[in-house]
Amino acid sequence: MIGLLSSDELVREPLVAEVTSDTCISCFACEEICPYGAVERVPYTDPETGAEAEVARVNPGVCEGCGACVAVCRPKAVDLMGFSDEQIYSEINVLSNIVNVKDEA
Ligand code: SF4
Ligand code: SF4
Repeated sequence: MIGLLSSDELVREPLVAEVTSDTCISCFACEEICPYGAVERVPYTDPETGAEAEVARVNPGVCEGCGACVAVCRPKAVDLMGFSDEQIYSEINVLSNIVNVKDEA
C-alpha cells in the first residue's frame, strides 16, 4: 500500500474477492450487492457435523475487486485476496507511524 500511495501512477492490481466457506452464514448479502454478478451459490458440507448448505463463492473471472461484498459481509467471510482486514489495518498503522516520525523530526 505504501508503494501504491507513493507512486506517481496508479496501476490497477487484479484484486478479486474470496469467500471463506466455513465462516459464511449463507445470507447472500454479497450476491445482492455485487454489481457484476460475480457471486455464485455452491454446495458446502460442514466437515464437523456433515450438515449440508449453500455458501457463497466468488467467480474470480467475473469479480472486479470493487470490495462491496467485503463491506456488507457481517461475519467477515470475504476478503480481497492479498488484503485481509488485518493486513489493511496493519498497512494503515505503518503509514500512521511514518507520518508521526516525520511530524516529530
Ligand atoms: S455476505 Fe458473507 S456470510 Fe453472507 S453469503 Fe456472502 S460471504 Fe456468506
Ligand atoms: S469484490 Fe465487487 S465485483 Fe468482486 S465479488 Fe465482491 S462485490 Fe462482486
